[in-house]
Amino acid sequence: MTFQNTHSFALQLDAADPLRAFRERFHIPAGPNGQPAIYCCGNSLGLLPKNARAAVEQEFRSWEERAVEGHFHGTSPWMHYHETLTDATARVVGAKPLEVVVMNNLTTNLHLLLISFYRPAGKRYKVLMEGGAFPSDQYALESQVKLHGYAPDDAIVELVPRPGEHTLRTQDIEARIAELGEELALVLLGGVNYYTGQAFDMAAITRAGHAAGAVVGFDLAHAAGNLVLHLHDWDVDFACWCTYKYLNSGPGGTSGVFVHERFAHQPDLPRLAGWWGHDPADRFQMKKGFRPMPGAAGWQLSNGQIFPMAIHRAALAVVEEAGGMPALRSKSEQLTGYLAFVLREAGLPANELEIITPENPAERGCQLSVLVHREGRALFDYLAAQGIVADWREPNVIRLAPVPLYNSFEEVWRIGQAFAQWANRSAR
Ligand SMILES: *Cc1c(COP(=O)(O)O)cnc(C)c1O
Repeated sequence: MTFQNTHSFALQLDAADPLRAFRERFHIPAGPNGQPAIYCCGNSLGLLPKNARAAVEQEFRSWEERAVEGHFHGTSPWMHYHETLTDATARVVGAKPLEVVVMNNLTTNLHLLLISFYRPAGKRYKVLMEGGAFPSDQYALESQVKLHGYAPDDAIVELVPRPGEHTLRTQDIEARIAELGEELALVLLGGVNYYTGQAFDMAAITRAGHAAGAVVGFDLAHAAGNLVLHLHDWDVDFACWCTYKYLNSGPGGTSGVFVHERFAHQPDLPRLAGWWGHDPADRFQMKKGFRPMPGAAGWQLSNGQIFPMAIHRAALAVVEEAGGMPALRSKSEQLTGYLAFVLREAGLPANELEIITPENPAERGCQLSVLVHREGRALFDYLAAQGIVADWREPNVIRLAPVPLYNSFEEVWRIGQAFAQWANRSAR
């Protein structure tokens, strides 16, 4: 589509947007002038879906009226509450229901999965990661390799872009995997890099990892609810994600886990065990001897966190009602494409402002990362004063993520106007 940098064109796109009504389903915070903010921070914390409060209220009522009986009675007995999330979760990540479970928090789940899937032996002990991965992932891997007696500097291999480039080329990732060969135990990448917004070719990376005899996992914090994923078909071994970013399920919300079907019936696969992962047929007999449930459910430790799950369930219902990930993605490609267009139109020269996120829509999701070579922090503050909520990443990147469920083309146009005003004001 050819875009135009005009208010009327943006309004036309909004009028033609099948998801336009979904904006009303979210609480949008007010900006400094009292008008709704232009919220482009869904990559960090998604907005509150209006249906979440009633979902939580229902569980308060159950607790209030039934107390312990709430585990077994009511509209959604807590004993089985996590199961009510399974089908929608499987659809969000392209998995079979057996392959997913919702539990805990992201970094906790990453550790649980690494216990099972980082099994270094002999000369095969290295882990391939993105250089500058999200700090929690770096710390998790660092501690895991130490747990096995290796030095992080030796065991963790980092991928870095070619000189003068900001993102990784798939062919370079594949080449590094092949080169590490028999030394490679695990490939662990983000599905979308949190800093650059680059979406990786997970199918190709998984193929390359498997060809080298390694296990392949993804942290989908920035990919779940953002991209159309096919974890099962891509043959990914394991993955985990948080639900508070593009899945709008609240601060510190619950997390999702994927374990490929081929591991579903391997009770002897090493893991950390807890009663909620045990065969439910005799879970309450409290007997010795852990027997994991088949599939991802066999990695559960504790009984479900009902309140975060209630929010997640409400948020997933909104995604489903909107037509699921293909519908979201279809608008998202256009919305982010329009953002890239209006930013280019703003008239800031490349030596001042550079979009480091790949230009190819297949290599990115919602987010554009804008590298500002001069006065970046001042520009960020200027945007904030205009009611544009973005986020700032040291040393000089502004991340903007227009989200298909609640952002409009008009908002994106207004972001472009703010950048253009900044360009003129700093014509200086
Ligand atoms: C957001 C994010 C996290 C956060 O981890 P929590 O355990 O949810 O605090 C971890 N890793 C990545 C890649 C992230 O983007």
